[in-house]
Amino acid sequence: MALLNENYLKLPGSYLFAEIAKRVTNFKAEFPEANIIRLGIGDVTKPLTPAVIDGLHKAVDEMANPETFRGYGPEQGYNFLIEKIIATDYTPRGVKLEVDEVFVSDGSKSDVGNIQEIFGVNNRVAITDPVYPVYLDTNVMAGRTGDFINGMFENVTYLPCNAENKFIPALPTEKVDLIYLCVPNNPTGTTLSRTELKKWVDYAKANGSIILFDAAYEAYIQDPELPHSIYEIEGANEVAIEFRSFSKTAGFTGTRCAFTVVPKTVMALTAAGESHPLNKLWNRRQTTKFNGTPYIIQKGAEAIYTPEGQAEIKTVVSYYMDNARIIKEGLESIGLETFGGENAPYIWLKTPNGMDSWEFFDKLLNEAHIVGTPGTGFGPSGQGYFRLTAFGNKENTLEAVERIKTRLSL
Ligand SMILES: *Cc1c(COP(=O)(O)O)cnc(C)c1O
Repeated sequence: MALLNENYLKLPGSYLFAEIAKRVTNFKAEFPEANIIRLGIGDVTKPLTPAVIDGLHKAVDEMANPETFRGYGPEQGYNFLIEKIIATDYTPRGVKLEVDEVFVSDGSKSDVGNIQEIFGVNNRVAITDPVYPVYLDTNVMAGRTGDFINGMFENVTYLPCNAENKFIPALPTEKVDLIYLCVPNNPTGTTLSRTELKKWVDYAKANGSIILFDAAYEAYIQDPELPHSIYEIEGANEVAIEFRSFSKTAGFTGTRCAFTVVPKTVMALTAAGESHPLNKLWNRRQTTKFNGTPYIIQKGAEAIYTPEGQAEIKTVVSYYMDNARIIKEGLESIGLETFGGENAPYIWLKTPNGMDSWEFFDKLLNEAHIVGTPGTGFGPSGQGYFRLTAFGNKENTLEAVERIKTRLSL
């Protein structure tokens, strides 16, 4: 008799998006004429830019020709892409990386989900709360947590981020081994300064912990003082693994390309106290379980690093950040308290009058015909908050803000 992985049974059903869909369907059934605007999705809407399309087209033609056809590529990614990543995203920021420290993949969701495999099951995990649910769920699946009780998993260190602490997580009081940081943050849209990140790097060094740094939104950082990479912090190359994606940076959510940086200086111990580089383990994991990102896709990603490509993606990011500004200013003009939206495409708002996240969801849907995301979907500290995204088109964003201003009874 085959036995299942019982850790999967600890996970509550993916209640959030199913519940949103159900409430929207019910609303539509009752009000078929209502024009619903979705400011809930964490997906981009702008198409791939001309430079990327050109790169993809050329690569498709190469695949049609016996002289230039490619089969399996290196599991770690092609050097043509890795060298451009290092030269454009890291070297100008004073970060030195070697080609075998960058692993190209088909997405950050898989990388941040898979990374926990190279760590022992007895590590204690810390996550900021609220946050992207993948970090926690994959550790639950691996058996690194206890049961889900009163909205929280046992044996996990939750680091609350809320208006009271300005969304700056405090260092844990107990010793933790794996620390997930998402900066700029999904869902709160807030960031951490160089000084704050330094505290985490120092903590990791002092406690032998590893920081798993998800920088999926680094391209949205506007403030020139803010670091884009954890490796801009001294000592981070000994304690941090960084994840980046072309999804939100360059519209690759459906195209699929990302990369993970594992410096060879990041070490972890065996139970017997022997130190090993994590780079070797991740390389082993990837070469065993992953057969590389398609050549065509990597050529599309390479095109982002041409001068035209860089200019085009900047324009797209500005477009979304303009939406973020419109949403934030609109909400604030009617007295709602907002966070984020300045260095990330997410606006996190405090629900008014002590309403819970779902009550506000219903209110926004019923009064303004707008769909957003209840904060509770991202962790217990999301209660009383609500996420709106800047990934829609400008017309809808303007219309949504106008409706919020004129129709929402506060
Ligand atoms: C969108 C997102 C990613 C990127 O995922 P991909 O699999 O590369 O599309 C990673 N982390 C966070 C926090 C995200 O919101």
